[in-house]
Amino acid sequence: MLDRFNRDINYLRISVTDRCNLRCRYCMPAEGVELLRHEDILTYDEIAAFTRVAVASGISKVRVTGGEPLARRGIVTLISMLADIEGIQDLSMTTNGTLLADHAHALAEAGMMRVNVSLDTLDPGKYRYVTRGGDLSSVIRGIAAAQDAGLRPVKINCVIKSTPDEEDARRVAGFAMREGLEVRFIRQMDLATGTFSVVHGGSGGDCSRCNRLRLTPEGMVRPCLFSDDGYSVREVGAEEALRRAVDSKPDCGTINHINGFYNIGG
Ligand code: SAM
Repeated sequence: MLDRFNRDINYLRISVTDRCNLRCRYCMPAEGVELLRHEDILTYDEIAAFTRVAVASGISKVRVTGGEPLARRGIVTLISMLADIEGIQDLSMTTNGTLLADHAHALAEAGMMRVNVSLDTLDPGKYRYVTRGGDLSSVIRGIAAAQDAGLRPVKINCVIKSTPDEEDARRVAGFAMREGLEVRFIRQMDLATGTFSVVHGGSGGDCSRCNRLRLTPEGMVRPCLFSDDGYSVREVGAEEALRRAVDSKPDCGTINHINGFYNIGG
């Protein structure tokens, strides 16, 4: 699927839930968020049906995210439904890792290929503070389980304030090197101003090479992380939502606010 700027759109990020078991300070507003009603969230059948259409149209790379994808009940079932779709060459997940130890082997057996785990610090107290209550040891166990299950590569998404030279970032990088993990540094985005993030060690952040579409939990196909545009799969159907999203992909994301990552997956 070529968009108006000749970019080949082959990557779909599916946010399967707006719910998360963490409350990261840079992601969720302190006052919390209004959650979607259950009936407004796409079922696994609807997600798989949309993905089938998207893959038939040229999507070959699918990432499941959230919210926290492992917090959605039965997520392994969705992974096996997606893995059954012929034409997906890369099936992955972005997770905070806290529930990964319990799911890694089942996810691998279901057909998931690899995983990105979000980890910004190796200091348990800081982790608890940043995530508003998270347990760092569960993430470390999750990473080990992912490696044990053969999910390769395990990548670490590490949000930094400004530079990978920060102490937390350096410690995460050292951990990654020792454990054979890849690490991507993502500059913390200011949700109030929408200041664009720069990614070190990943492909995000460069609009000229953007190959992504996003499916939100309530079934909006969104052309750009920095745009409120979206086309409802339930209202206009998968083909039309997909076509409109590709046709309306902006040259470059320009919105000067973003409501949060919790419902669209970062
Ligand atoms: N719950 C999953 C997780 O933690 O990986 C998936 C969703 S989370 C919103 C996806 C990614 O967005 C995480 O790596 C998180 O660190 C990142 N993120 C959230 N808020 C951000 C912000 N303000 N700036 C940069 N990255 C952010």
